[in-house]
Amino acid sequence: DGSRVHPETYEWARKMAVDALEYEDEDANPAGALEEILEAPERLKDLDLDAFAEELERQGFGNKSITLYDIRAELNSRYKDLRVSYRTATPEELFDILTKETPETLYVGKMVLASVIGISHRKPQREMLDQANPVRNDETGLWECPFCHKNDFPELSEVWNHFDAGACPGQATGVRIRLDNGLSGYIHIKNLSDRHVADPTERVRIGQTVHSRVLKIDVERFSVDCSSKSSDLLDKNNEWKPQKDPYYDQESEDKDLRKDKEAKQTKERMQYVKRVIVHPAFHNISFAEAEKLMEKMAQGEVIVRPSSKGSDHLTVTWKVTDGIYQHIDVREE
Ligand SMILES: [Zn+2]
Repeated sequence: DGSRVHPETYEWARKMAVDALEYEDEDANPAGALEEILEAPERLKDLDLDAFAEELERQGFGNKSITLYDIRAELNSRYKDLRVSYRTATPEELFDILTKETPETLYVGKMVLASVIGISHRKPQREMLDQANPVRNDETGLWECPFCHKNDFPELSEVWNHFDAGACPGQATGVRIRLDNGLSGYIHIKNLSDRHVADPTERVRIGQTVHSRVLKIDVERFSVDCSSKSSDLLDKNNEWKPQKDPYYDQESEDKDLRKDKEAKQTKERMQYVKRVIVHPAFHNISFAEAEKLMEKMAQGEVIVRPSSKGSDHLTVTWKVTDGIYQHIDVREE
């Protein structure tokens, strides 16, 4: 009959047909019943397949529930193709398939490690070259190209030769990078640093690994725009970090931060009162400054300094050995 019902279970398909048509006659032709069902498969829809499956299980065939439902589906629509119809992948899907990335593994705001593979330049137009105004460095006496900032031309004419020979790569526009996953990336010159950068080679060199944050993903060009500005890397204002989940205990974090801040302020308040004491070992300095000063002193040397406990106290700090200092409180009476 051209169906995909397996010969071993074909008997059950026949039984289904007979039951669905509610043949009273035991001798009715089951093959004819199947033909009739294939003409009008909607008559199968009221069959109790679960009861049929129970019956088969009782007879020792095992759990055939899935097979029975498959048989009914096949009789309903022979050789039905269950695959979803073909459609071309969206650029996002194509990107994920080829890069093996997902929106969870690569996203705007993610911190990535990248290696510098080149500096990109914009070649100056002819008319820009004609209107160029090279300047001479007063200190070195050498001339500088206003586009690529090469600054070791002994004569002005050599700057013009540099233009005419097409040797000027032009103004640097950014840094080309490659991410660990193989994607190419770009750091625009304005995203290199919080401070103005005229020449990227002052900041990075080819082959160097840089920390950066993904600003934009161009799925069609398989590239990302990144920033290596400290402010973007630190992201104090939470512009780039992924959202915290709704159960994150922000209150607790705020409390901890407040506590840290207060502790720092108290420490700052615990300042010493300056004293007028003439003694070779006496210094008007704090605890931290004393330890710093003693780093260079010999073992066993001593500093006397004001105490945070008040103006009737002094502290003697002595160097036990490198990195170990003892602070002795002295009360003046
Ligand atoms: Zn140049």
